Amino acid sequence: MRSEGRFGSFGGYYVSELLLPCLEELEAAWLDARDDPAFTAEVAHELAHFAGRPTPLDPARALSERVGCRVYLKREDLLHGGAHKTNNTIGQALLARRMNKRHLIAETGAGQHGVACAMAGARLGLDVTIFMGRKDMERQRPNVQRMRLFGAEVVPVDQGSASLKAAINEAMRYWTAHLSDTFYVFGTAAGPHPYPSLVRDLQRVIGDEIRAQLLEAEGRLPSAVLACVGGGSNAIGAFTAFLDDPEVRLIGAEPGGEGIASGRHGATLTAGTSGCLHGAISLVLQDEHGQIRESHSISAGLDYPGVGPEHAHLSEIGRATYLPVTDAQALDALRWLARHEGILCALESAHAVALAMELPFDPSDVVVINVSGRGDKDLEHLEAAS
Ligand SMILES: *Cc1c(COP(=O)(O)O)cnc(C)c1O
Repeated sequence: MRSEGRFGSFGGYYVSELLLPCLEELEAAWLDARDDPAFTAEVAHELAHFAGRPTPLDPARALSERVGCRVYLKREDLLHGGAHKTNNTIGQALLARRMNKRHLIAETGAGQHGVACAMAGARLGLDVTIFMGRKDMERQRPNVQRMRLFGAEVVPVDQGSASLKAAINEAMRYWTAHLSDTFYVFGTAAGPHPYPSLVRDLQRVIGDEIRAQLLEAEGRLPSAVLACVGGGSNAIGAFTAFLDDPEVRLIGAEPGGEGIASGRHGATLTAGTSGCLHGAISLVLQDEHGQIRESHSISAGLDYPGVGPEHAHLSEIGRATYLPVTDAQALDALRWLARHEGILCALESAHAVALAMELPFDPSDVVVINVSGRGDKDLEHLEAAS
């Protein structure tokens, strides 16, 4: 490969030899497409007309009062599909079409990425197959229905845990056997190279917009940008535009679940150690034998025992800070934002909101919180938790 996708000591591609040609072809196609103005114009067109970009940078009056400084919400919840995931799936689907691959495959856990993928496939006239753990299919009926409405085939996976991890393995297995016509749409900024970079490049539109919108509104850069971190795609998307501005604090909210001490959490950057998961070296939750531990979070989108390698690196070099937020804090923040701002955000996004409420800011600070998605999908959870 031309570049190995390393972020300090993290990243890379630790995959079976069968998968190497898939990843090499993908990297070459992406490097070529990224520099082609016709392709970037196509992506921008779909993001504007289909997905509704730019999303607003919303000055949140009540939340500003509560936090004690000016707070803006980046409204990815208003993106078509209800979350930032559309940025990634539309981009990868356009890349697939450019590579003459008519068949998209993807893994999905709670179903959000599967739905975003099925939506993009329908839009661009591509066939879509989604691998989903059988247990997850039972737990997430509405998302299975949505995927089928978009014309996708949903394949139940019974192996192992019958959930996300097994679905990823199954999708990778299928890909190696069907490389000539199949494109694997990975759901977050993790996995083997080139996915962490590819997904970051497709999501960085979030931070690029924040930068331009805040310069317009305030004539300055933000003091801090906050985002929740599952695999890390919405966070790296929000952070990338500011990596070279050391005065902008980059802060990730990790799923603290029932608390770090309880062991029931998904706070990889806080409590993980260096290891290999899904084809890359990153921080992972593992036991002393290197067995991946189960993660826990009230929000399905953050319930992942790994994290993208670029976040592991940003944490190690101290450029970004990652702090855990418990299920209970996230629930409180979600309810507070609904009641006081009229915004029903996703439980995932509520982690970032909760962290902003927790941290000390100076009255002269300007804080941006990325609201990665809307919360309609979480209503059942909210009822169960009350
Ligand atoms: C999937 C999802 C996430 C977590 O994924 P990242 O790759 O960490 O961004 C966060 N928020 C919402 C609304 C999601 O759907």
